[in-house]
Amino acid sequence: AANGSDAAGADPLAPGQTPDDSVLLEARGIRKSFGDNEVLRSIDLEVRRGEVVVLIGPSGSGKTTVLRSLNGLETPDGGTVSIAGGPSLDFSTPISKAERFALRDRSAMVFQQHNLFPHMTVLQNVIEGPVRVQKVPKARAEAEASALLDRVGLAEKHDAYPFELSGGQQQRVGIVRALALKPQLLLFDEPTSALDPELVGEVLQVIKELADEGWTMVVVTHELGFARQAADEVLFMDGGVVVERGAPGQLFTAPREERTRRFLQRIL
Ligand code: ADP
Repeated sequence: AANGSDAAGADPLAPGQTPDDSVLLEARGIRKSFGDNEVLRSIDLEVRRGEVVVLIGPSGSGKTTVLRSLNGLETPDGGTVSIAGGPSLDFSTPISKAERFALRDRSAMVFQQHNLFPHMTVLQNVIEGPVRVQKVPKARAEAEASALLDRVGLAEKHDAYPFELSGGQQQRVGIVRALALKPQLLLFDEPTSALDPELVGEVLQVIKELADEGWTMVVVTHELGFARQAADEVLFMDGGVVVERGAPGQLFTAPREERTRRFLQRIL
């Protein structure tokens, strides 16, 4: 994918965008239970640099828990995760806080609800993580945030407050906030499911552009049209397992598993 950087100054998008076919994320045998509820029963996931992997499946199948496990927001009961050449974390033994933070640093998550700070402007929301957490000098963080906001069509909104924006604009700020952290990997957890239908397209378009620019991402979504267009690989999950995985062309048109077929018939 092209590195289509026409933004002024340093390219704020560099880290996640170096497709070279190496494995960026490797997760093996991820297991997780909540009490008696076995939510993930041994999930394997491998994502190469520049690849887009889409997780689909019925509600409650464990998709969000997979993302949260990759981001250190959830601690699996077993399995290993390695991102961007970082140490392979083995969850069968307790991991330290430092290890969890190291894992979190390598990815950034875009949530269903944007969770913007209501009392801060758009620009302040975007620079909060880089300045407070990553200790980036404020002027540099602002310049990079501005370039990113301009790229997603929010040039006029730097000084607006979240309540002054539409839901689609708010979610685009949420995406920019994730990009500003310069993660290796972007994780999207149903990024459009809280939006009014007419606002879904503009947010999917931004995600699609990031995919085309070479960002590596794992996306949980019910938007099968998006999955068809943007995904390199689609994983269908049900009951805490990956039932089937394949290229969208294969999985959507000629699913191998009966469970996949039934799910697609219900949702399409
Ligand atoms: P999906 O994203 O596919 O809808 P989730 O990963 O959100 O599925 O949830 C999978 C299962 O795990 C569900 O049964 C859900 O109720 C349960 N679950 C998720 N998070 C928690 C939690 N923090 N505590 C208890 N149960 C949870």
